[in-house]
Amino acid sequence: NAATTSTADAARSGPAYLDPRLPTRKRVADLLSRMTLAEKIGQMTQAERANLSDPTVVTELGLGSVLSGGGSVPEDNTPEGWADMVDTFQDAALQTRLEIPVLYGVDAVHGHANLYGATVFPHNIGLGATRDPKLVEKIAHITAEETRATGPQWNFAPCLCVARDDRWGRTYESFGESPKLVARMAVGVRGLQGREGQLDRADRVLATPKHYAGDGLTQYGTGSGDYPIDQGIAIVSRREFAELALSPYLPALQKYGAGSVMPSFSSVDWTNDGVGNPTKMTAHRGLLTGQLKRRWGFDGFVISDWEAIHQLPGDWNTQVRTAVNAGIDMAMEPASFREFITALTEEVEAGRVPMARINDAVRRILTAKFELGLFEQPYTDRRHADDIGSAQHRKVARTAVAKSQVLLKNRGSALPLRKNQRLYVAGSNADNLGNQAGGWTLTWQGGSYHEFPGTTILEGIEDASRRDDIVVSEDASEPVPRNATGVVVVGETPYAEGFGDVGGPQWAWDPGDNGVPRPVKDMKLSEADQQAVETVCSGAAQCVVIVISGRPLEIQPALLRQIDGLVAGWLPGSEGAGVADVLFGTKRFTGKLSVSWPRSVEQEPINVGDADYDPLYPYGFGLRTRGR
Ligand code: BGC
Repeated sequence: NAATTSTADAARSGPAYLDPRLPTRKRVADLLSRMTLAEKIGQMTQAERANLSDPTVVTELGLGSVLSGGGSVPEDNTPEGWADMVDTFQDAALQTRLEIPVLYGVDAVHGHANLYGATVFPHNIGLGATRDPKLVEKIAHITAEETRATGPQWNFAPCLCVARDDRWGRTYESFGESPKLVARMAVGVRGLQGREGQLDRADRVLATPKHYAGDGLTQYGTGSGDYPIDQGIAIVSRREFAELALSPYLPALQKYGAGSVMPSFSSVDWTNDGVGNPTKMTAHRGLLTGQLKRRWGFDGFVISDWEAIHQLPGDWNTQVRTAVNAGIDMAMEPASFREFITALTEEVEAGRVPMARINDAVRRILTAKFELGLFEQPYTDRRHADDIGSAQHRKVARTAVAKSQVLLKNRGSALPLRKNQRLYVAGSNADNLGNQAGGWTLTWQGGSYHEFPGTTILEGIEDASRRDDIVVSEDASEPVPRNATGVVVVGETPYAEGFGDVGGPQWAWDPGDNGVPRPVKDMKLSEADQQAVETVCSGAAQCVVIVISGRPLEIQPALLRQIDGLVAGWLPGSEGAGVADVLFGTKRFTGKLSVSWPRSVEQEPINVGDADYDPLYPYGFGLRTRGR
């Protein structure tokens, strides 16, 4: 096509930056030397696709990047639809004077799950339970392949959060409560990016470890509004912060060379004796520039989180200046991208943001674009599109599901089930693909009503069982045959961020239900689920309860006594058959808890250093079964 031809022509006669034979460093320096201030600030700006119904705005402003926020999908939500959309923005970017390609970012946090038909993997909390970094790397690689084949070359993942309070609505995005476990799983960065020099391949994307740092350590009550904990304040000593928040970033950056980092919405407060002088991570010069870039030598770029700059103190110009001077290289300004450009231009012209800071930011961003090969191949390389949701990819997901299941109780060897055993299946999550996929699936919050290619847990059970008389009754209203084993699948409905209040009369916004409010999560099973467990467990010969949730849920002692087999199933994603694999002993249970399982919400936040902390099941717990 025209743009590629002009690039090739230029490589022969034109500017040095278009010559692929030159080292990236030289190309960046050459390009940077040709850029105006407006072009540089454009590169530092990211807008949301939904606010760019006219893609020529990308040309007009020379935007460096476009993102799809959670659930912001093209009308034609297919691989073709995505690739055409991204290529349209690319067309617009290549119309700029210097023809600098645009970088497109998405949240492919458990597979490219915004895309209909993608392989939807278990959320990180389940992957942590597999204790299998190689598998995590493989999953990240498949995610990269399915993502890049549809256009986006950049993934806002993995979350390297260390979750320490299960009331946090992003607990499920954490590989676990142990920073050592999270650090091992940071190998996902290599799965996304490949080894050094592989970023330009059609199956690799730029990774973004997030949210730097301390997103999982915020103290309850320090958040705002309906979010008492999300985006709150981590009140810890410097030593604890280094151990619990910073340590997983070391391998991600130094060993696997992560190309970008996203700072956390949260704040940090070192005083450790109550709220003293908290600083938002978006404004934390010491941690963004001092620690990350200088001490650790991070050479990638820092992308602010969604409108995070708006949360800083002061007027808009002050917010922008503070963020950029602290070390933000690119601003995620979904709607206020014009305002960002105006403010940053004014601040630079007034000398309050040094030109050297701008050049440093743009150098970092351009480096990523060159390494991704965008100057040579700006348009979507669709060669792997046929592999999206392929049998082979789904098989890897199914393996991951099986390995993520944690067996917590197995009285009388209730598990594994026999294939000819009489079965009764109940519970709100037995046959609900949307619920088992959780947040960041097709929409930001995910949704119970979502349908997409995959198998529910019930379908997996039906497939594995040899009986054709399985009784299925979501609310357990059908009579329970005495000689049956009852499988009750309970748990949460999807959510993505925020939440975390306990029992309070607070409400959160659920865009999936067209803005209809719904109760904020506590950590209890719903009345209906408790009822189903009671009915089935008192009626059946044996009962097995599977909890599908993004975090441990409270299981009352009286209820627990009635349960023979208890499984933590987490948020398995599209392959419910993986749950059936371990239930029927086709595969053994090997998963180990990635977070301790508290007895009640009173034990939050968990304090693993406290000798008196006595959870129902400790971190690392998990029974094994024999295969059948
Ligand atoms: C989340 C980030 C995400 C971003 C873009 C924010 O609300 O905190 O994790 O990458 O949205 O979708």
